[in-house]
Amino acid sequence: MKFRTLSIHAGHRPSDHQGAVMTPIYQTSTFAFRGVNQPGPFEYSRSGNPTRKALEECLAALEGGAAGFAFATGMAAETTVAMLFQAGDTVIVHNDLYGGTYRLFEAVFKSKGIRARYVDLRDSESLEEALAAGAAGVWIESPTNPLMNLVDLRAVAEAAHRHGAIAICDNTFLSPYFQRPLEFGVDIVVHSTTKYINGHSDVVGGAAVVSDAGLAERIGFLQNAMGTCAGPQDCYLTLRGIKTLAIRMEEHNRNALAIAGWLAARPEVERVLHPGLPSHPQHELARKQMRGYGGTFSFRLRGGQEAAFSLLGGVRVFTLAESLGGVESLIEHPATMTHASMPPAVREAMGITPDLIRISVGLEDVEDLVEDLEGALGHGRS
Ligand SMILES: *Cc1c(COP(=O)(O)O)cnc(C)c1O
Repeated sequence: MKFRTLSIHAGHRPSDHQGAVMTPIYQTSTFAFRGVNQPGPFEYSRSGNPTRKALEECLAALEGGAAGFAFATGMAAETTVAMLFQAGDTVIVHNDLYGGTYRLFEAVFKSKGIRARYVDLRDSESLEEALAAGAAGVWIESPTNPLMNLVDLRAVAEAAHRHGAIAICDNTFLSPYFQRPLEFGVDIVVHSTTKYINGHSDVVGGAAVVSDAGLAERIGFLQNAMGTCAGPQDCYLTLRGIKTLAIRMEEHNRNALAIAGWLAARPEVERVLHPGLPSHPQHELARKQMRGYGGTFSFRLRGGQEAAFSLLGGVRVFTLAESLGGVESLIEHPATMTHASMPPAVREAMGITPDLIRISVGLEDVEDLVEDLEGALGHGRS
């Protein structure tokens, strides 16, 4: 079946739920045995819950994987996947990625003996060199947050496999509607379902999807042993959000492209970082491995931090907030907000400078969004 059909039906059979067309919220911690030594299909909600199972099957179908896992947050998904590694392992981590992933490796896993080695995965020689030195995994994010750089998923997964490492891809920015990393040989896809997958800014959640049965078994074991799973209420809301994922992504993509093009022509704007613009250095790769560009991108203002703060203070329709992927448009300043947990030197070296603004373009009327940015760009001017 095709994506839109799967997003509405995968994981749910009304006949399993008294005919209910929507997956019920099984708000129960435990399940009655059928008899002595005769458990039913579910025993205890940490190990398995019917609402969560419906979401997990749906996520697996959308990513084209064999098994999906739903977690309490995106970071719970990442933590569980990172626990596949052992003390002494090195994980090659893309040097430009979500600040929380960097913090997880540096402030949590490093002291447990799992070492991250940061490499620019756009540079195949650096990757080969790092792999040759020994690595158990490669952690990819594409496009990256907030710089919108791309990683060649097929090339990196192949290089990882040649050296016996697994490839993991954080697919939060595009959702499976626009990019399906498993098709390019990636072993594990992780998501913050908080973002586009749920899409309504009312749940924090995470996911992992795999094709390999051995990996599925190990992640399922960790999810139960560590208790990182999502609760049924959040799974229900995420399932509801997924039903409109395809049409939301189309509209996010359309609105964001229109705004990116408009910003690129503004004198106040130094540069727009959007993989859908032909000016993006990896526009060709974007067309090769992505079916669309999503709704989040960044741009640099000519006037530095002062101009950035003026813009942030001048918007009325965009909301000044962290996060992305919801129906409402958000605007933020990575250097002082989402990426403030990074050491300033690392941040600056990456290019997350004070002139950088990130926007998550929502589903409002694009004319209102453009008008809002136009008014705010002039904000503070006499
Ligand atoms: C938000 C985000 C995360 C973390 O997810 P939470 O749901 O906030 O725990 C991980 N990766 C990316 C790319 C994100 O945007």
